[in-house]
Amino acid sequence: MESTYLYLLALICVLWAQGQVQRAYQKYKRIENEKNISGADVARQILDANGLYDVNVEVAQGGILSDHYDPTKHVVRLSPDIYYNRSIASLAVAAHEVGHAIQHKEQYGFIAIRNKLLPAAQIASKLGWLTLFLGLFFLYITPVLLYIGIIMLVVIALFQLVTLPLEFNASSRALVQLQQGSFVNEDEIDDCRSMLRAAAFTYVAALLSTIAQILRMVLIARRNDD
Ligand SMILES: [Zn+2]
Repeated sequence: MESTYLYLLALICVLWAQGQVQRAYQKYKRIENEKNISGADVARQILDANGLYDVNVEVAQGGILSDHYDPTKHVVRLSPDIYYNRSIASLAVAAHEVGHAIQHKEQYGFIAIRNKLLPAAQIASKLGWLTLFLGLFFLYITPVLLYIGIIMLVVIALFQLVTLPLEFNASSRALVQLQQGSFVNEDEIDDCRSMLRAAAFTYVAALLSTIAQILRMVLIARRNDD
């Protein structure tokens, strides 16, 4: 029974966070910024101000909020709305992605830790759910597969954990850059902070959801032992 509650808790957590970021995005993409500057322009100017002339700014091919920094190609990719619009959301998201580029240049410590975990996390996210499914299926024969699945979930949780400081740090760099470059006024910086905070919630929710799943599987495994 507790395991069902944990599952629902994880689900509610993730849905709530996704709702928050969508609400914030819908709100702040409609508010024009006072400087009338696009996401692409603010990204270019902050990159140049930090000597990152070799980092390009491109339109991302994915959909809404597919914005990211690609460290292998040295490219900041912004979704079309963020790239072209002159909204508060454009400022916040573009500056956040440039924040990741600055982290890369400065060899920010958590990048190395995350890169070490990346191969294991990729395997775990590909095979984790299949392993857990088979683990539950064969539980009455052997609990080994379920335990392997739980270990994979722990690897995913660790990866999500080290992602958090990277995300929070990129956002705080973004706010500093937006203020230093005078891209925002007093009210706008608060709005940018709200937008980025909502975006960070999704990473926290993802971690909490994985932890809930780990607890759920441990409960199931222990019940079987009894
Ligand atoms: Zn980020």
